[in-house]
Amino acid sequence: MTEAAPSPHTGCAQAPGATNPPAAAVANVPERYDVAILGAGPVGLALATALLASGQPLRIALLDRRGEGAGRDDPRALALAAGSRQILQRLGAWPAAEATPIREIHVSQRGGFGRTLIDASDAARQSTASAGQALGHVLRYGALVSSLEQALTAASTNASGGACLSRHAQTCVTAIKHGAAVLTLSLRDAQRNWPIEAALVVHAEGVADAEGIEYWGRDYRQVAIVAEVTPSRAHGGRAWERFTGDGPLALLPLGRELSLVYTTSSERAPALLALDDTAFLATLRADFGGRLDFAAISPRTAFPLALRARRQTVGERQVWIGAAAQNLHPVAGQGFNLGLRDAWVLADEIATAFASTFAADEPSRPASSATGAPPDVATCLARYQRRRRSDRLGTIAFTDGLLRVFSLRLPAAAAVRGAALLALDLLPALRRPLARRLARGAIDAPARHGN
Ligand SMILES: Cc1cc2nc3c(=O)[nH]c(=O)nc-3n(C[C@H](O)[C@H](O)[C@H](O)COP(=O)(O)OP(=O)(O)OC[C@H]3O[C@@H](n4cnc5c(N)ncnc54)[C@H](O)[C@@H]3O)c2cc1C
Repeated sequence: MTEAAPSPHTGCAQAPGATNPPAAAVANVPERYDVAILGAGPVGLALATALLASGQPLRIALLDRRGEGAGRDDPRALALAAGSRQILQRLGAWPAAEATPIREIHVSQRGGFGRTLIDASDAARQSTASAGQALGHVLRYGALVSSLEQALTAASTNASGGACLSRHAQTCVTAIKHGAAVLTLSLRDAQRNWPIEAALVVHAEGVADAEGIEYWGRDYRQVAIVAEVTPSRAHGGRAWERFTGDGPLALLPLGRELSLVYTTSSERAPALLALDDTAFLATLRADFGGRLDFAAISPRTAFPLALRARRQTVGERQVWIGAAAQNLHPVAGQGFNLGLRDAWVLADEIATAFASTFAADEPSRPASSATGAPPDVATCLARYQRRRRSDRLGTIAFTDGLLRVFSLRLPAAAAVRGAALLALDLLPALRRPLARRLARGAIDAPARHGN
């Protein structure tokens, strides 16, 4: 990528970090890539970085319908599990200075007794972990994207042996055509339409229109109102999860602020969004039963919530990862953590599948993908799907189940939930599995081949 301008018939004729290469030298002759990643959100960026760092001479195209850097303005903050921190560290994308540790999580319900406090010793495998350690970290989505962008630029600059990245911002795919050994994608940006070919297409476009797709779905009829609030007293690294009849409320430590995810019914959301800051904070105070007080709040943004999980995450030369594969309720902060594990495992399988191709041909880059033995993409995707199955289904079930249990409006439900919270508080053995899932992710950073 850094040295040579490849043949106009191949991709990556681009300076490191640059976006949208000049129009193809030969009109309508497709640029060729091994992997085309659609969507440069945090999951797509992580995958591209992991592929460039894999040591394989992969040609990668990464495109997004938005301009580069658009994700930096996203108002979300994400709670990241320890496994995600490990993956980001390995990618050189852990923004330590921007990450706020979660020291403990206070879980309670409005209108019912019982509460539990989870700390790092609950999540640790050995009970020697101290309560002062972090259960996880909170990052602004924008800080995460910036850090991944930097890591990607560095990986692209340092890529050797013919590995390269071609970025296309404000670009859409208008059609995907199946060929014998590649997919042909018709791309469009503001200036032109042009084709590219890829042996494998990865969908990381986030929540997609579910029309015509078989998926597990639930419309929660809820909206998440997101904002940052300034607590009247230092938060001390405590996160709060409070279940209410309208949905869960979460407050996560974020620098000196608290990141608020206020879930409410779709019917109530417009009225809450229309409140001025003073009235909104009064509502929030009432919801937390006076446990917390707040001095200020940032502008609020609403996200509609639904479960959308594709039944099939792989197709012919195509795979769906991150929120494009499964969009979860944010209740337990699992979505990005799960998507990052998708990207990590997929990068591993792609690198393994293409390694044999390159080895069979020549140690560095074949002049065009047509000259090498074709990678066994079908086996690669089948292996990926097998490796991700249990984590994926377990996390979807955990998130949806938690929400349903705490949404039950039966008369006895609040008492049962209260008893459960009390039991969790009194019995560490019950608390540990929950703590581990919240803090570590379902698993630690998945191992790679050869690790
Ligand atoms: C309120 C809220 C709070 C959350 N809190 C947490 C949390 O605490 N912890 C956690 O782990 N997860 C959390 N999540 C989930 C998390 O935000 C998502 O799982 C994560 O953003 C998914 O990343 P992604 O890259 O797959 O998709 P996205 O972040 O949606 O990025 C998709 C990218 O694809 C681009 N794109 C879209 N369509 C196209 C197209 N047709 N062609 C090309 N590009 C396209 C978009 O411009 C975007 O850049 C939360 C979600 C919400 C709504």
